[in-house]
Amino acid sequence: KEFFTGKNILIVGLAKSGFAAAKLLHSFGAHVTVNDRQPREGNAEAEMLEQIGISVECGGHPFSLLDDDIDFLVKNPGIPYENPLIAEAVKRKIPVYTEVEIAGLISEASIIAITGSNGKTTTTTLIGEMLKNSAKTPVVAGNIGTVFSEVAAKSTSDDILVAELSSFQLMGTEKFKPQISVFLNLFEAHLDYHGSVDEYGKAKAKITENQDKDDYVIYNADDERVTELMKHSKAKHIPFSVKRQLKEGAYIQESTLYFQDRKIIELKDIVLPGEHNLSNIMAAVAASMLAGASTEQIGKVLTTFAGVTHRLQYVCEVEGRRFYNDSKATNILATKAALSAFEKNVILLAGGLDRGNTFDDLIPSLKNVKVLVTFGQTAEKMADAGRQAGIETIKRADNVEEAVPVAYSHSKDGDVILLSPACASWDQYKTFEQRGDMFINSVHKLK
Ligand code: ADP
Repeated sequence: KEFFTGKNILIVGLAKSGFAAAKLLHSFGAHVTVNDRQPREGNAEAEMLEQIGISVECGGHPFSLLDDDIDFLVKNPGIPYENPLIAEAVKRKIPVYTEVEIAGLISEASIIAITGSNGKTTTTTLIGEMLKNSAKTPVVAGNIGTVFSEVAAKSTSDDILVAELSSFQLMGTEKFKPQISVFLNLFEAHLDYHGSVDEYGKAKAKITENQDKDDYVIYNADDERVTELMKHSKAKHIPFSVKRQLKEGAYIQESTLYFQDRKIIELKDIVLPGEHNLSNIMAAVAASMLAGASTEQIGKVLTTFAGVTHRLQYVCEVEGRRFYNDSKATNILATKAALSAFEKNVILLAGGLDRGNTFDDLIPSLKNVKVLVTFGQTAEKMADAGRQAGIETIKRADNVEEAVPVAYSHSKDGDVILLSPACASWDQYKTFEQRGDMFINSVHKLK
């Protein structure tokens, strides 16, 4: 923490993480300036920061902010490197970090860090649950819930921090070194931000870049891109695979999940549906075993854990129809994963923000869909994919609330009615959580 004393630090982006980082760095004796593009009026956070003596510059990103001998800049993960101020800082060789770098520097606890294109929240939550009754106290942080650096500042060596990290957050790290890193999968997402899959992969691979032979990297051996990236990691390699029996990691033998030579659980006793979740589970098992969880505790979690809200979450049954809320499925891969969890008779609700992509990659997965209800900006494109997949009944609805009764009117006893949009929600909803809540409300109205 002394490292920050007297440093000149510019924080760009006054969202939740910027606010927390500003207060924290100020408390370590750093000279902090906060900058946000939004105008100042009515910004309660800005006011609070000023009251404790932090200078706040709102309403633009003037380059003059970089003139005062800035030691480094902390940016919100959502701000792109093309932002003129960030680009200028890079040009002037001022280090640009995210608050993850600070968290790594100040944490007294050991860190388990989780990244991947999909499954981060599910895996992070599972690890937290699995470690709950072990000798150390797990604290879940990062993308979900609490700000990572804030949690790290309060941590003791008796804690384990379990942190979910996006590629955006990892991009802004330099010395970050978790004791256990978990790399779930990698596919084309966020290309608008990273430019290419290679760049995106490199950003994510930063999770293991500083790890050494005393650390562990747990990775998906079924994912070629991930496996390729592991060549550069000096950490102990712990693979997991749903296909092969890689005995140095997590694997399946005779319908039973093993970690190294330890039997963990029979697959039939696991509640969470879908093969993709089996991958997440294997990663979580490996991480929590290495961090000292007991097989009993892990087994208990796996026989009860029914999924994180909005992630292929079982909602309820109405007249024999089972409803699932997978509003978090904001890309094609997530929806493919959701669909593969059901054998047939799925009524799919999909559509949302148009990012300019086609849904061709989704077509093979639509084979178990018997009715498709589309909504949002991509309603027509989605319907088109449905037609190409040979779905006979394709309906349009104005939004998720309306899509539910439409789906219900075309369903029968034994069907699965699934919201898994394959698109972001921002064309019609504030967040994917709001979209999922609307779905759940509508489902309850059917009763
Ligand atoms: P993240 O935090 O990485 O966004 P979540 O656990 O919130 O991941 O899941 C996001 C979406 O991706 C959900 O719709 C979920 O069903 C799907 N999903 C979860 N794990 C995987 C996986 N391993 N592969 C593909 N899709 C997945």
